[in-house]
Amino acid sequence: MNSRESADCQIVESRRGSAALLAASLSLAAVAAFLFTMGGPTTRSWRPLQKDGLSSTRNLESTTQLKPNADASGNSTTLQVPMGDATDLSATDSKLTAHIAEKAEPVVRNVSSLKTPVGHSVEERPIVCRRIGDGEYVVLMMAAIHGNEAAGTPLLNNLAEHVVANSELLDGVTLVLMPVVNPDGVESGKRYNARGVDLNRNFPAENRQNSSRYGLNALSEPEALAIYQVINDTLPNHIVTLHEPLQCVDYDGPAKDLATVMSEHCPLPVEKLGSRPGSLGSYAGVTLGIPTITFELPPNAATQSPGFLWRFYGEALVQAVLHRHSAIK
Ligand SMILES: [Zn+2]
Repeated sequence: MNSRESADCQIVESRRGSAALLAASLSLAAVAAFLFTMGGPTTRSWRPLQKDGLSSTRNLESTTQLKPNADASGNSTTLQVPMGDATDLSATDSKLTAHIAEKAEPVVRNVSSLKTPVGHSVEERPIVCRRIGDGEYVVLMMAAIHGNEAAGTPLLNNLAEHVVANSELLDGVTLVLMPVVNPDGVESGKRYNARGVDLNRNFPAENRQNSSRYGLNALSEPEALAIYQVINDTLPNHIVTLHEPLQCVDYDGPAKDLATVMSEHCPLPVEKLGSRPGSLGSYAGVTLGIPTITFELPPNAATQSPGFLWRFYGEALVQAVLHRHSAIK
């Protein structure tokens, strides 16, 4: 099989031989990340966050990140000030202090947040969907459609906490989160659902194939049906689905701009892997034309702490919340 024709982790089997390479490259990535923090020889501007707080400003390029401060409750906050204010800290101390004081007072706004089951798995576990905010631009994100790729779940939970605490990120946005779309697979530690079907091949895409592994019919599986119904109900402007272990930002449909932005804010490169039959990317991205990102975390993501994952990949997810598809005014 030509691996370039394969999308998402289905090609794990065919690329298992390269697992050692991936692990080795991850070690290199860790070194590279360290070099980022040390100002090492790299042209990439991305660097991991020092704490688990993220910026809440939209224009990251024009800001300077200060070291996290601890607030009275012991929580750390990352403060952002415009570059012009920070170039000479000594000369602008009073102005900066005033700016920080202003920033340190969070704007308390009520953010609507509704958590509901939108279906049940084969083994009757609830599939939970959380809607946060009430804006017109809808961003759908989901994780663990493959049960042995659940590292995205704590990332989405952290994202939920982050946008609730930084509600300005949700201006005009409804964020729809499905942190565990294959709960039976997560429970068993397997890629498939309890009937052995790959849910990411069960969507009614034009390239779908019927089989026992992909489901005898499109949407034969309740978990895929739940996702399908959420897409129909919420009409997302773009979709991000979290997988492992191919460590790249893959995309289907008109999502190259979003993939690029996300890649610029994490260590993962953009890679167009190709559309798999009946995958969510094929259905939502190609058949429906909704920009769809397959965010492939690295092989060892499951062994990393939620805080570590958030520092490395949280900003990319925040950017996906802020991004507006170019066709949308
Ligand atoms: Zn996967």
